Amino acid sequence: MRLSRYFLPILRETPKEAEIVSHRLMLRAGMVRQESAGIYAWLPLGHRVLQKVSKIIREEQNRSGAIELLMPTIQSADLWRESGRYDAYGKEMLRIRDRQDREMLFGPTNEEMITEIFRAYVKSYKDLPLNLYHIQWKFRDEVRPRFGVMRSREFLMKDAYSFDLDQASAVHSYNKMFIAYLRTFERLGLKAIPMRADTGPIGGDLSHEFIILADTGESEVFCHRDYLDFQVPGADTDFDNADALKATVAKWTWLYAATSEMHDQTAYAAIPEASRVSARGIEVGHIFYFGTKYSEPMGAHVQGPDGKPVPVHGGSYGIGPSRVVAAIIEASHDEAGIRWPAAVAPFDVALLNLKQGDSAVDAACEELYRTLSAKGVEVLYDDRDDRPGAKFATADLIGIPCQVMIGPRSLAEGKVELKMRNTGERELLSPADFVARVT
Ligand code: ATP
Ligand code: MG
Ligand code: MG
Ligand code: MG
Repeated sequence: MRLSRYFLPILRETPKEAEIVSHRLMLRAGMVRQESAGIYAWLPLGHRVLQKVSKIIREEQNRSGAIELLMPTIQSADLWRESGRYDAYGKEMLRIRDRQDREMLFGPTNEEMITEIFRAYVKSYKDLPLNLYHIQWKFRDEVRPRFGVMRSREFLMKDAYSFDLDQASAVHSYNKMFIAYLRTFERLGLKAIPMRADTGPIGGDLSHEFIILADTGESEVFCHRDYLDFQVPGADTDFDNADALKATVAKWTWLYAATSEMHDQTAYAAIPEASRVSARGIEVGHIFYFGTKYSEPMGAHVQGPDGKPVPVHGGSYGIGPSRVVAAIIEASHDEAGIRWPAAVAPFDVALLNLKQGDSAVDAACEELYRTLSAKGVEVLYDDRDDRPGAKFATADLIGIPCQVMIGPRSLAEGKVELKMRNTGERELLSPADFVARVT
């Protein structure tokens, strides 16, 4: 992508309304724009990151055996009356009337709708287990939308829903998601700790929140320090091996970790003082097992092995990709701007032409741009007629992990200069060596 033809509305001034660093940097880097309170447009740079985050989430959901579909954002109130949540949900739900005066709503979550889909088709225990997910916009009329996309009213959610014949197999489904979440957050460059959590309006009795430690987090959390160095399960995890998954989840839940709602002061005090972590945290994911909470009232039964109808056992599993984008920035930035982990960076390489209009420099840049692009490297080529200083600042602000600079001085030696955004390391090397390095 040539920056001269891209749409990257960088802000020079620090926006006053932004209270936390991720919000400030997302506005300054031209990633998002607020359209109404808590409602954001994702501009091209932000959109690229959101897509990359969603892709990693999707890959790990698929790896664990979950199946993607796509449900609508608008739902019927009648569906929510079946579960009893239409009245219970309260003011966070955006209620809408259509021209026929039918009561509709903008979905804050999809337990009811997926249960409706499930009951329409699945009739036998032989078709279980089943885990269906989608990545779709949600709306919650938050009392206090703030911190940009961290707590917005419209936000993206990956929500998965599992269906099992009984509690034991439902716990296996829960454990699959637990491990998929550990892997997902690790790949996103985040250290997420699963913590015992309150189940809230979703209901149920087994639940963990995945929390990133950050001073700007809205949750108060308590955990054992050892979790910070735990090894995340590998890509070769056998998700069908219920016993192995159980052992892994046991290891990850054995030590103390709880949010303030579930905090047990006595248990926490039993941790050796040096290992206690009491901090702020950002909830990036949340998983629930809720048994037959929806299947009973909504009549989602399957025929069991003995021919009798059984209400299925369910769980739901959410991650907010839009909040995750902000959480990654909270965890990874410096004075100059964002420092994207490579896996979610909007571009792999920023190519800076330090003397636009110098024919030798232009030619070298064009050639490198073509070569890298042909090899599938995503390059943002800063070909604007601007000072080197402005180009350095932009590249640092938007946080592309690898910057390559070409100017008359390095070119005279047949070299380009490489700068790694995350470490600040610099190196002079030939264009061919650079290409070999990044491909
Ligand atoms: P919170 O405690 O922050 O209000 P929640 O517990 O209400 O979140 P869940 O119902 O568990 O949220 O939804 C699953 C995930 O969706 C959350 O873990 C979070 O990543 C994301 N999410 C929830 N609310 C918002 C929001 N207002 N803005 C952005 N992401 C959100
Ligand atoms: Mg909430
Ligand atoms: Mg919560
Ligand atoms: Mg939650």
